[in-house]
Parts: sequence; structure tokens; C-alpha cells
Amino acid sequence: MRKGVRRSRCGWVAALEVEGLRELGIEGLVLDLDNTLVSEDDRWLSPGVEGWLGQLRDRGMPCFVLSNGKRRGRFERWLGCFGLEGICVARKPFPSAFERALRQLDLPRDRVAVVGDSWHTDGLGALWIGCRWIQVASLPHPPRWWERLAGRWVQWPYGGPGYPPLDPVEPVLERLPD
Ligand SMILES: [Mg+2]
Repeated sequence: MRKGVRRSRCGWVAALEVEGLRELGIEGLVLDLDNTLVSEDDRWLSPGVEGWLGQLRDRGMPCFVLSNGKRRGRFERWLGCFGLEGICVARKPFPSAFERALRQLDLPRDRVAVVGDSWHTDGLGALWIGCRWIQVASLPHPPRWWERLAGRWVQWPYGGPGYPPLDPVEPVLERLPD
């Protein structure tokens, strides 16, 4: 990733190292949930995501989740599991939830990166509010109708040479708080 570039790509979230983010001047993250941290069908976790979130916590890099998901109970369970705070039904890319996230992080927008898998929600939202966007590969999930038509223009699929195997959700679901 280069300084001065407003858009970067990284295959999966745990490949984003705290030192690398700090070198770019990033002090906090707005995270997408679905197909970024966990697949929307609750089958796959981004590899190493729990350890990565622990590192961010230990190294003082605050995070806030914005999800367009409408299933509030599921959203809150995942946030409880990950130890994160956030907003669902966030209506990305519209800026109001992003502005709330920036207030929660208490950081100027040029110190915050939006990390997510979709251009039309995460990327456009980041552009709209003036944050850097880091696009990650979209975790495998059953494609929605519009993704069959236009998915390749707004996302890129996880997998290929150099990508680590995905972590199954199952053992984590057993540990989720009720
Ligand atoms: Mg997503």
C-alpha cells in the first residue's frame, strides 16, 4: 500500500498489519462485517480474524463496524463475539452512519480507513466522507441476484495462489454468547 493513495487492496483483513497502517497515517478503522470479517451465510471467517482484532485492540487501533445487514440479532451476536461496537442497517454508502463512526472513533477522517469488500457501499462511502478505502476480497457466499450481474465490477472473490484457507465459523458459533 502506498501513501497518498486513497484506495488500497489487501486479500484479507489479517494481512493488514498495524505497523503498515500506522505508516500510512491510519489510526482507526471502520470495518464492514459481511463477506469481510464473516461470510454472510455464517459459514466462513476471514482467516485469522479473531487474532487480528486482538492485535488491533492490544496495539490501540480502535475499530467500529458498519453493516448494511438488517438482521439485528445476528449482527449483535457477531459484534459480541468479536468484542466490537457498531451500527447495522447503516445504509452505506450514505454518509450519516460513517459520520457517527468517525465520532465514535474520535479521529479525523484522514486518519481513518474503511475496510470492506464492496465498492458501491464501503468504497463509495469512504470516498464520500474523505477516508481511505482498503478493499479486501469478498469471502465466499451465495451470490445475490445483483451480484450475478454486477458483482465482478464491485467486488473480487477470495481465493487463488497465496491465499490462506478460510476459517470455518462452526467452532466460533458454539462459543457465541446467547
Ligand atoms: Mg460486505
